[in-house]
Amino acid sequence: MPELPEVETIRRHLAPHVEHRTLERLEVLDERWSRPLAPAELAAALEGRAVTKLGRRGKYLVWELEDDAFLLMHLRMTGTLLLDPPGAPPHTRVWLRVSGADLAFTDPRRFGTGELALGVQQRDAFFAARLGAEPHDPAFTAAHLHGLAKRSRAPVKAFLLDQKRIAGVGNIYADEALFRAGLHPLRAANRLTRPQAAALRDAIVASLDAGIAAKGATIDDFRDPDGVSGTFQDQFLVHRREGEPCPRCANPIRKLRAAGRGTYVCERCQPRPRYAARLGGRVAQGSALR
Ligand code: ZN
Repeated sequence: MPELPEVETIRRHLAPHVEHRTLERLEVLDERWSRPLAPAELAAALEGRAVTKLGRRGKYLVWELEDDAFLLMHLRMTGTLLLDPPGAPPHTRVWLRVSGADLAFTDPRRFGTGELALGVQQRDAFFAARLGAEPHDPAFTAAHLHGLAKRSRAPVKAFLLDQKRIAGVGNIYADEALFRAGLHPLRAANRLTRPQAAALRDAIVASLDAGIAAKGATIDDFRDPDGVSGTFQDQFLVHRREGEPCPRCANPIRKLRAAGRGTYVCERCQPRPRYAARLGGRVAQGSALR
């Protein structure tokens, strides 16, 4: 699923093509996308308005339109936006026709959503109910992260995936950040020390920045709006590298389950806390040597 760096890549690519232009038509071909609004209602609320800014909050792409109307798009598992595709791409669910550009939202699995907020207050309330700290916001400090972690007994991997605490981190960037911070994914969030929280804060930002610099990771269905692939998957430190040597100590990387997700870890650089010995699968040494 696209995470913060992938959505940010899309945003940066599209912004010059849509900002200060008019959203002439919004054709919602799949009524599921605009729920609870009917496609015609969403279109009526937004068509004919100028796009003032294409923004992002967490994994949401935020279309800011004239007179504080907002279209809040979430790509979910397989959604992507294609700029001026030749013809109609498969699985096109929505067309956004901006003066001078046509955007196809394609989504094989149909989990993507487009929601309307009228006014800044509605937008802020929408995000306040769903999203926590924005990693690049100056308010996302080590102390802030430590405070959040203190209130969670969840394993730190699950804690990182919870969008209501930190917005934008998904399975890839959680694994990468935990490795950079030297923290085992099954460590309890509320047992993080202040220095560990500080290391994790920096590691989250560094991982996301590396992802953005590489224009996102291309796994599953992510593509940027020209259908070009990001390259961050070639730079993963541990994610999807089961059995390969750890880039720091050469110990084989293991795959285990945490927060219900395949999770990659170097258990030498990220020592497993004793209290988590039985969680997340066998601890068997060398099980990743296959
Ligand atoms: Zn290692």
